[in-house]
Amino acid sequence: MLVSELKPKEEILGYLREGERIFLVSCGGCADVCEAGGEKALSSLRTVLQDAGHPCVGETVIPFLCNKVLVGLRLSRLQQKVESADAVLVASCGVGVQAVAAVLEKPVFPASNTITYGAFQGVWPSEERCARCGDCVLAYTGGICPLTACPKGLLHGPCGGSYQGECEVERGRPCAWQRIYDRLEALGRLDLFLRYKPPKDRQKERDVPLSRRKSLFWALEYVEGE
Ligand code: SF4
Ligand code: SF4
Repeated sequence: MLVSELKPKEEILGYLREGERIFLVSCGGCADVCEAGGEKALSSLRTVLQDAGHPCVGETVIPFLCNKVLVGLRLSRLQQKVESADAVLVASCGVGVQAVAAVLEKPVFPASNTITYGAFQGVWPSEERCARCGDCVLAYTGGICPLTACPKGLLHGPCGGSYQGECEVERGRPCAWQRIYDRLEALGRLDLFLRYKPPKDRQKERDVPLSRRKSLFWALEYVEGE
C-alpha cells in the first residue's frame, strides 16, 4: 500500500493554465483508504477547479490505478470526455499518476503527494515506481518519476553522462531525463521543464530517507526481471 495525501490547492492550480478544461481521475484502492482518492477526492478537487474557473469535463474512479491495463480500458470507455480535456488531474499515489500518463497523450498532473508505504509494500503490475518522496514532481516531468527512472534520482535535469539519449549507468537504457524532455516536447509543454523548482524538502520523506536507500534503480531492475 502507498499512502498519499492531497496537495495544497494552490500547488495544484499552479500547474494549470487559465481556463483549462480538466478530466479528473481518482484511485479507488489505497488512495481511497487513506481518504486521498475515491469519491471524496473527486468531490474536493471538483470544488477547487470550479472555484478557480476550470471546467471539469468528466471524472472517474478506477480501482487500483497502478494497473495500467485496467486504466487504459476504463479511460478508453470515456475517450470523448478525456479527449475534450486540456489536462488530466489524478488523485492517487505516484504509481497511479505515472500509469495514467503512460496511457494518455495529454498532460497528466498529480493532485497528491505520496508519503509512505504504510504498513506493507504492494506488488505493482507494471514498471512504474514511486519512492514516496512526499513532494511529487510528476507535474513537471511529463508523468515520469525522475527519482525512480533515473538511477541517480536526479531532480533537475540529466547528468553529464547522458549520451545520445542513453543512460551512462547502462548503455542501451534510455536516459530518464531524455524521456522526460521528449515527452514534454511531444505534449507542447516544455514550459514545465523550464520552470524554476526550489530545492526538494527532504523533511517530507517520512520513510527511510532516499539518500539512505540502497538503490533507486528498482524500476529498471523490475523490468529486467520480467
Ligand atoms: S516524484 Fe516520484 S517518488 Fe515523489 S511522489 Fe511522485 S512518483 Fe513518488
Ligand atoms: S544518464 Fe540520465 S538516467 Fe542515467 S544517471 Fe544520468 S541523468 Fe540519470
